[in-house]
Amino acid sequence: MEILKIDHLGIAVNSIDDGKNFWSDVLGLGFEGTETVEAQKVTTAFFPVGESEVELLESTSPDGPVAKYIEKRGQGIQHVAFRVADIEAALAELKEKGVRLIDESPRHGAGGAKIAFLHPKATGGVLVELCER
Ligand code: ZN
Repeated sequence: MEILKIDHLGIAVNSIDDGKNFWSDVLGLGFEGTETVEAQKVTTAFFPVGESEVELLESTSPDGPVAKYIEKRGQGIQHVAFRVADIEAALAELKEKGVRLIDESPRHGAGGAKIAFLHPKATGGVLVELCER
């Protein structure tokens, strides 16, 4: 599998409107607007940092994965996303290695990316996202 870079850090927030102040006004990162991914019940906001990005995640529904995460663990870093050259090949390789996956096949993420999550139980507690753009 070819991992190209850390694509982004996903940070769960109660409100992008409240949360973006620190990233855009205090740190001075560019704010590229929000995008809602209904299938995942989440609104995202991306802040580019060099070759990577910070992604703020706000749940659109109390039963969405981000809302459940905040309920259990509070706001904060929710996942790390690695950009891969070929997500299908990466998932096939992980499956062959017996790694537990949340997504057996890629789904659509923000910004037209193909994404898939690995199970935190297989990674030492970190929710890992693979993405291909
Ligand atoms: Zn992400």
